[in-house]
Amino acid sequence: MQANVCLVLSFALVLGAGRAGISQNYNELRNAMVDKQLKARGIKSDAVLEAMRKVERHRFVPKNISARAYDDSALPIGEGQTISQPYIVAFMTEVLNVKPTDKVLEIGTGSGYQAAILAELCSEVYTIELEPVLGNRADSLLKRLQYANVFVRIGDGYRGWPEAAPYDAIIVTCSPTHIPKPLEDQLKEGGRMIIPVGETAVQELVLVTKENGRLRRQNRLPVLFVPMRDKRGKRY
Ligand code: SAH
Repeated sequence: MQANVCLVLSFALVLGAGRAGISQNYNELRNAMVDKQLKARGIKSDAVLEAMRKVERHRFVPKNISARAYDDSALPIGEGQTISQPYIVAFMTEVLNVKPTDKVLEIGTGSGYQAAILAELCSEVYTIELEPVLGNRADSLLKRLQYANVFVRIGDGYRGWPEAAPYDAIIVTCSPTHIPKPLEDQLKEGGRMIIPVGETAVQELVLVTKENGRLRRQNRLPVLFVPMRDKRGKRY
């Protein structure tokens, strides 16, 4: 009996130490990601770097590839979709220049990772996902991680989320061939939108600002995003 208890105890200790070791390892990988992939490539905002150090990216990727969560690449998240490369997440977030009081709209919730990063930096994040499996999974993960300021909706993000508009910032993480008019309309005066626009496989990340009711467009970076689709799978 005594020996059994001992065995169980030491097994539990080994398991515990193993877990601590793994999460320590993830912390190191995440810090290395921030230093080598983000800072070294010119991400400067302390707030963005801090959010990228804090949010545990490995929780947002499928378990069987969590060891690759801090790699310098996009990763599959199921349903033919991807979580963006860490640098692209940081770049888009930095360009949006959000303030703690901002209300942000995201199109393409995917894993929920970008929404979590934004939730660290602003007051409310509204995020829309077309694929119910992904949207529901992200919603429960974000709730489990206690992001009370993120609101997930399953639907077609082309139309935006008019009930909560206007937004200080809009981030689009799937690629349409043109800027959706509803998103334009739901952007606040002085607001910023970052969106990958393009007809081909390679798109241009465009920063859109609304000044005196007019849109100003600046091309920022060539990128590769999954297409923005309607419910039937047709590309916008
Ligand atoms: N921001 C995500 C990456 C998402 S990939 C993350 O951090 O993980 C782009 C997502 O856009 C995919 O999940 C795809 O299903 C979704 N998507 C494509 N068309 C859409 C549409 N019209 N409305 C909402 N989501 C859309």
